[in-house]
Amino acid sequence: LTQLFRPLDMLGMVYRTIRQGLIDMAEMFRLIDTEVEVADAPGAPALIVRRPSVTFDNVVFGYEPDRTILHGLSFEVPADSRVAIVGPSGAGKSTIARLLFRFYDPQGGRIMIDGQDIRKATQASVRAAIGIVPQDSVLFNDTIGYNIGYGREGSSQGEIETAARGAAISDLIDRLPQGFDTEVGERGLKLSGGEKQRVAIARTLLKNPPILLFDEATSALDTRTEQEILGTMRDVARDRTTISIAHRLSTIADSDVILVLDQGRLAEQGSHAELLRRGGLYAEMWARQAAESDEISEAAE
Ligand code: ATP
Repeated sequence: LTQLFRPLDMLGMVYRTIRQGLIDMAEMFRLIDTEVEVADAPGAPALIVRRPSVTFDNVVFGYEPDRTILHGLSFEVPADSRVAIVGPSGAGKSTIARLLFRFYDPQGGRIMIDGQDIRKATQASVRAAIGIVPQDSVLFNDTIGYNIGYGREGSSQGEIETAARGAAISDLIDRLPQGFDTEVGERGLKLSGGEKQRVAIARTLLKNPPILLFDEATSALDTRTEQEILGTMRDVARDRTTISIAHRLSTIADSDVILVLDQGRLAEQGSHAELLRRGGLYAEMWARQAAESDEISEAAE
């Protein structure tokens, strides 16, 4: 019987999450798979973000007690910088994002935003400081205007239009017969992967958070769309701290710092040029991806 009620429990959890306006988090972190919840300490203060730096200080974390995923991870993301996290599949990249969003608390060490331990601040204030552009955004069966405005409750039409322009989706909307009132989703207009990601960028612009977490799509976008989205992200990232979880190294080569993660440890860090000179894991991954893209372009000829 318990088995029967579990899905109902989960539905309730998802519903509450949507009510709390945390749908993007649910998308990215697949909330439904997660049972652990963190609680605010009694009387916890809100995080106050003036200079949005992010610090991982000797962070130890595992989802299960007998399997450590992050083994004393330390790194620093200076305020207003663009940092990328790369590494083989399963290295722990998304785990870092989940911890930063305080979806879990680490078992050892601390995570700080602007010098404040996020474990001691309210979850809501930590989440308000971070805007996530997930790989694949969920759109509601509602108008495109609603889907963008969802980024911040009570946004005006003017603010929604500005966000759409910032996310470079306003040309598409202008071409629609009903503009922002066009229905999207199952009942209406179908958006491509790239367009959905632009809606997510527009939502994030409305939220206007000091820290951006960009989860690069693994494969969904064609190269041209991807380059355009990256261009938009670069504009949006100006004057913010940006952390990109990347699969294709070509998309993050111009980051200020690249963190190379391997089996929950920081294997290397530096700029693209520094890491290539080093001739380690990053250089190896770069060579492999370059060879793969050569093969693809040869096959296309
Ligand atoms: P990818 O590039 O494939 O997305 P990643 O570097 O983002 O990988 P993570 O998703 O952070 O990797 O996963 C790191 C490790 O933690 C993996 O071995 C994964 O199996 C494990 N893991 C992830 N989520 C959970 C979970 N909810 N419960 C138990 N183990 C998990």
